Amino acid sequence: MTDQAALQSVLDRAAEGGRISAEEALDLYRHAPLHALGTAADTARRRRYAGTEHIATYIIERNINYTNICVTACKFCAFYAAPKDTKKGWTRDLDDILRRCAETVELGGTQIMFQGGHHPDFGVEYYEEHFAAIKKEFPELVIHSLGASEVEHMARISGVSAEEAIRRIHAAGLDSFAGAGAELLPERPRKAIAPLKESGERWLEIMELAHGLGVESTSTMLMGTGETNAERIEHMRMIRDVQDRTGGFRAFIPYTYQPENNHLKGRTQATIFEYLRTIAIARLFFDNVAHIQGSWLTVGKEAGQLSLHYGADDLGSIMLEENVVSSAGAKHRSNRQEIMDLIRKADRVPAQRATTYEHLVVHTDPADDPVDERVVSHISSIAIEGGTAHPELKLLDAR
Ligand code: SF4
Repeated sequence: MTDQAALQSVLDRAAEGGRISAEEALDLYRHAPLHALGTAADTARRRRYAGTEHIATYIIERNINYTNICVTACKFCAFYAAPKDTKKGWTRDLDDILRRCAETVELGGTQIMFQGGHHPDFGVEYYEEHFAAIKKEFPELVIHSLGASEVEHMARISGVSAEEAIRRIHAAGLDSFAGAGAELLPERPRKAIAPLKESGERWLEIMELAHGLGVESTSTMLMGTGETNAERIEHMRMIRDVQDRTGGFRAFIPYTYQPENNHLKGRTQATIFEYLRTIAIARLFFDNVAHIQGSWLTVGKEAGQLSLHYGADDLGSIMLEENVVSSAGAKHRSNRQEIMDLIRKADRVPAQRATTYEHLVVHTDPADDPVDERVVSHISSIAIEGGTAHPELKLLDAR
């Protein structure tokens, strides 16, 4: 379908909240003019958020990378160290993790993202111990972490079912899954970039299980590693089908592959235009997922601003620490004031949100903006201490 009138009719239906098929979404992806996609996606966003459509949200969180030791060796990953690589591999102890949680609370953070490799010794017990310790000392922190890949791995290490693993880490303190490890769910691109990860079907099965046990999640898509447009749409379709049954995905978060320091040869990053088309298509395709998140850590601040006009309602997190995409070359960083300014210059009112997307503070008047000096100076000191980390405030998808 390349007839522009036919494309416009599909766009109109999606903008009004009607469902479009995967085939229609692919036609739009391939043939609809970018500005028409953006207009329809923005209309759909405004419809969904009528009354608060002037607001764009962000969250303050800390990404705690607990280990980089990993047996899964994904080809796109610049973060991991093989278990035998004692020079590159490291693991943080519990005291270090708790200190980082304390700093997060001190800096106004509300969420912890526990993110690391598939360590050969870390079973369910490791996560139970750590989540329980974090919740004991910092009950106000939301643990929005991990995903189906970690569940599959820890269950295997501990010799239990995925269901038991989810029940136990939830009981210990995990609040929601960040949807890590989705990458690309269709078989061909998944095998090409993460051959040792569980299948896309298994990833979805575990997320569906989690939703059924009361553990909601976000969902993600890694784009730009050589997948086709049809495979991107197929990824979205697989998530939408599960969402029809569970309603447990709070958000969809596409982000772009970073091409440095990894084993994928000859791949180039997805362009900003591809990224914006993807954000817009996601808003139009996911009539059953509330939030579409712009991820400017990997695509840049201007693209992040533009995403708010292409269907995104959220700009993710001001992240107090992040090592994974930074290792692969993501260089965009910011602090809270800058993010509030970015949102305002994109013609939106910034609001700090909770993990579950309620507005905590709506920054209506710039004169009332929180003073950030303490945050920035504190973060700078961590950067000096950390050496390889880039723990400045920044926005990233809530994987
Ligand atoms: S993406 Fe995650 S699972 Fe894959 S190699 Fe990197 S740390 Fe390991």
